[in-house]
Amino acid sequence: MDDDIRQLNEDGLLVVMAAVDPTCDFCSRAKPIWKYPAHSFVIEEANWTSRGSWHACQDCADKIDSKNYDALVQQAVALVDPDPSGMEKADLFFRIMVYKFVNARNGDPVKL
Ligand SMILES: [Zn+2]
Repeated sequence: MDDDIRQLNEDGLLVVMAAVDPTCDFCSRAKPIWKYPAHSFVIEEANWTSRGSWHACQDCADKIDSKNYDALVQQAVALVDPDPSGMEKADLFFRIMVYKFVNARNGDPVKL
């Protein structure tokens, strides 16, 4: 996501959150090398907001570029390591997340 996120907190104060040491937004590995432009979107069911572009490591970028979204989801779910009862929920969340990311993409990836 964008390095510099500005928003108003509940008291109306401007909050700037600067991302330090960005990670891959898909698998959480360190040192992503691609940035995929995207507009912001919300997953209402999970009360979760994505703001701006997404960082990706080469492994995830390969999956995105080859439209291998199932593998992208499976990798993300495997890294969450939930208890078995949470696995189905995590799988659903990541499927929605990847689907919405694909629709929110608005440009070619840029090398960081
Ligand atoms: Zn990754």
